[in-house]
Amino acid sequence: MSDDTIQERLEGIQAKVNAACEKAGRDPSEVRLIAVSKKQSPDKIREATEAGLSVFGENKVQEAAAKIPLCPEGLTWHLIGHLQSNKTRVAVELFDMIHSVDSLKLLQRIDQLAADCGRTIAVCLQVNVSGEASKSGLTPEAVPDVLEGATRCINVDLVGLMTIPPFTPDPSEAAPHFRRLRELRDQWQEEYGIPMPELSMGMSHDFEVAIAEGATLIRIGTALLGKRG
Ligand SMILES: *Cc1c(COP(=O)(O)O)cnc(C)c1O
Repeated sequence: MSDDTIQERLEGIQAKVNAACEKAGRDPSEVRLIAVSKKQSPDKIREATEAGLSVFGENKVQEAAAKIPLCPEGLTWHLIGHLQSNKTRVAVELFDMIHSVDSLKLLQRIDQLAADCGRTIAVCLQVNVSGEASKSGLTPEAVPDVLEGATRCINVDLVGLMTIPPFTPDPSEAAPHFRRLRELRDQWQEEYGIPMPELSMGMSHDFEVAIAEGATLIRIGTALLGKRG
């Protein structure tokens, strides 16, 4: 695989996305690919843009802040990793979407800083649906409070939910976790009247399973850009 170019890997992934969508009776335009570029060089990112990619995911604010100025201009950057409170201002300046909001306090801080910058920022709430202790994210029980608070935010646009299921060698075992995220989304969007069209779920090894369960944002690193440096 490592001998393939990004262009070739991208074509392979797109074929799998299309097949998974067809099987699920979904339109492939509903699924957006985030190229996860953490620990990848600006050169690698440039090669990815030449293959047609324009939306990149980073998991650390500091790494992104150092790297983005070295990358082609006009790209869209998403934060997919845990955000520490003291890095929120920089995050709001760099990113168009934050997938990993895991507290009401953080949501409110993003809202306030986005207002200071005169912008709106899209966010997803990260939900730990499996209950796995090592995973960050809100427990499903903690989400209603955050949704209540979100209705009072002006500069954050809560667009959906994100999850990372426990790693299992057989990706089909992730299906119940993805399905649960979709069911919770359906329930909460009804209860709180907040439209949440986005489900950020699925990575290199399980994106086809995630698409079958309704993923709209798939976050793919190694299968696309190769091993991380
Ligand atoms: C690293 C990372 C990914 C991509 O992982 P791959 O297995 O390389 O596709 C996706 N989502 C998050 C939150 C990550 O940290």
